Amino acid sequence: MSIIIVDDSNFILKFIRHILTEEANYTDVITIDSGEKALNYLQENQNYKDIDLVLMDVFMEGHNGILICKKIKAHPELSHIPVMIMTSDTSEERLQEAFEAGATDYLVKPIRKVELLARVTSAIKLKEEMDKVKAREKELLELKAKLELANRELSRLVSVDGLTGIPNRRFFDDTIKQEWRTAHHNGTLLSLVMIDIDCFKQYNDTYGHLVGDRCLQQVATALGAALKGSLDVVARYGGEEFAAILPNTGIEEAIIVAETLRKAVTDLRIPHESSSVEKYVTVSCGVATLTPKHLGIMAWPMLVEEADLALYEAKSRDRNQVVAFRSLM
Ligand code: GH3
Ligand code: MG
Ligand code: MG
Repeated sequence: MSIIIVDDSNFILKFIRHILTEEANYTDVITIDSGEKALNYLQENQNYKDIDLVLMDVFMEGHNGILICKKIKAHPELSHIPVMIMTSDTSEERLQEAFEAGATDYLVKPIRKVELLARVTSAIKLKEEMDKVKAREKELLELKAKLELANRELSRLVSVDGLTGIPNRRFFDDTIKQEWRTAHHNGTLLSLVMIDIDCFKQYNDTYGHLVGDRCLQQVATALGAALKGSLDVVARYGGEEFAAILPNTGIEEAIIVAETLRKAVTDLRIPHESSSVEKYVTVSCGVATLTPKHLGIMAWPMLVEEADLALYEAKSRDRNQVVAFRSLM
């Protein structure tokens, strides 16, 4: 903690320094004999960081103290330092000029000891309080930033499936409701593909649960990569079942997408020797499309039911294929 005294009179510098160091316990008192030098000193080597108060004479050779005060207050790194003006001219105009320049307070010359000590003490106390508030503000800002980061991570975590890294069932439920509402409002089509790995129980029985997990990860990644529509989403619906939501998509297009998804899995050529379908892992897909506008705003479970029925049909027709609900009618 330091105080700077700026005055072009050596006598006054010594006098004030004496009072501050001898009569009060201010140990770090710096004396500077011109406004310009004081300004330079503050900017050098980040000296400003230690300064708690500047006592500034008004009438000095060279630069006027009020001008220097203005410069300090206009400087982004110095502006927080309190400046106390010392003047023998206590006319209304002079004081107004000083306060307009950003002075915190003023001392009347000739300097009186009691007044000097009282004003310096309160100025320094104020500065310390302000510093505390600022430090607390900074702390709070840092905490807020950390909290926002943690919140973002949390909302990401609650929507991601832990095993496969793709959106989870919770995300699916939120998204299908949202997309249903949007399609209901816009009068657009909404399609859904339910995808289920064929003979996965045998896969686990043959290769073990851990290899089964690895297979689920590979299938999930392949399904995610195969979806090209910017609004399309594939989620892990549960167990070895996945679901692709295709907004703005009619049945023909949805069947093509489902075919692409099915092929993306077979293309992985994950060996599956106990499958009744192929020598590698395959999936069955059920596709359904609805126009939500013709149905209730809450009727989205219909879409899931239809896609499920189509999937069930694909399973009963030897698996490893795409079945559209419409073809069941
Ligand atoms: P289908 O061709 O008719 O679909 O037969 P399936 O064997 O694939 O279907 P079933 O519903 O009989 O068995 C699903 C299997 O998926 C049983 C279950 O242990 C396994 N499974 C579900 N979740 C996981 C998982 O997270 N990891 C592993 N390794 N297996 C899982
Ligand atoms: Mg299965
Ligand atoms: Mg299943």
